[in-house]
Amino acid sequence: AEKLLVDSEKLSVAGELAASIAHEIRNPITAIKGFLQIMEEGIFDKAYYRVIDSEMNRIELILKELLLLAKPQIPKLERKNICEALEQSIALLSAQANMNSIVINKEYEKAEYTIVCEENKLKQVFINVIKNAIEAMPNGGHLSIQMRAILDNKKLLVRFIDQGYGIPENVLLRLGEPFYTTKEKGTGLGFMVCKSIIEDHGGEINVFSEVNVGTKIEIVLPLVNNELDI
Ligand code: ADP
Ligand code: MG
Repeated sequence: AEKLLVDSEKLSVAGELAASIAHEIRNPITAIKGFLQIMEEGIFDKAYYRVIDSEMNRIELILKELLLLAKPQIPKLERKNICEALEQSIALLSAQANMNSIVINKEYEKAEYTIVCEENKLKQVFINVIKNAIEAMPNGGHLSIQMRAILDNKKLLVRFIDQGYGIPENVLLRLGEPFYTTKEKGTGLGFMVCKSIIEDHGGEINVFSEVNVGTKIEIVLPLVNNELDI
């Protein structure tokens, strides 16, 4: 009976998510249809194409982020040094950080931190978290990234500390809710995707924040003990 209850809970979460996805995608489609109708009446303006294009991009972005939640039939779990995934994620965003006068401080030793994981999904987590940090510092600042083994080498702690605008209590409470965003061009999917991926890897993600001081995101993941587990 307990199992059934869990399944029906999952179903209702899926149902709510489906409803909010439908809503989020219906809005841009309505806009696109409206402009197509105007164009059918023979009225053309470059601005119409631009709106259609940006609404299409919005749908594309929503679908791209949602697809990260879809679990492949056979997950490709591999033993990977997570250092690489983190370094690649940082490299990918370093230009964006630079453009926004943000200095990324890597406060960790490059070491062998082996995790059983889907590497691409963990990269996506790092990318989402770093992006949020960059977006939280429109006037520049420092993003510190720390990584070390804890709990007798059983777990890995990865920390992202920004000096951004911080997260007020009311936003903190809704973090991870699909489509909840405070940004004009946000999707409100990034954190939900991160949480789902980290939990799928047997880890957890925690957020600590102070308004106008900054935000600290802590990710804890199980480490493979290289000596014992081979
Ligand atoms: P999005 O970035 O598309 O808005 P997310 O799920 O990534 O969606 O984040 C949800 C909200 O959480 C953001 O709109 C923002 O208000 C807040 N947030 C997330 N990370 C940070 C951060 N590092 N600093 C300040 N606010 C943040
Ligand atoms: Mg985001």
